[in-house]
Amino acid sequence: MATNFTFTIVKPDAVRNGHIGSMLNKITESGFRIVAMKMIRMSRAQAERFYAVHKEKGFFRDLVEFMVSGPVVVAMLQKENAVADYRKLMGATNPANAEPGTLRAMFAESTQNNAVHGSDSDENAELESSFFFSDFDRFWE
Ligand code: ADP
Ligand code: MG
Repeated sequence: MATNFTFTIVKPDAVRNGHIGSMLNKITESGFRIVAMKMIRMSRAQAERFYAVHKEKGFFRDLVEFMVSGPVVVAMLQKENAVADYRKLMGATNPANAEPGTLRAMFAESTQNNAVHGSDSDENAELESSFFFSDFDRFWE
């Protein structure tokens, strides 16, 4: 499959703070097309599986608690060079280090409550997308 897409989550802090609309606006203005989207509340099992790569980290427990603390918006975003361009648009994990104008600089609260997830590789973009969306949910151009 052509890997011209990435997977994103508008995290619980950003949903709580009323940023869904502003963030989606910034994302689409930056050239990304939303090709799948829904609002869900992750189960603990889902959050643990989604972040399994971090399960040995000290912040894992708190991260899972945070991710199940409220609803999130999960979406697939289509664009040439989507993974790298979206990582750029998100900004650094710690919003204090995020470039001005990035999603995390604009909308994040802290290193943990950092408003947004974005895939870090084409392989993970597909894995993470298939975790939440079937082929029937994907509205490709
Ligand atoms: P990114 O989301 O930028 O790819 P990571 O994959 O390293 O960052 O971490 C996944 C998520 O775990 C981060 O987005 C953040 O919510 C949380 N996290 C990462 N590092 C820390 C930390 N040192 N303390 C608390 N939470 C963290
Ligand atoms: Mg990551």
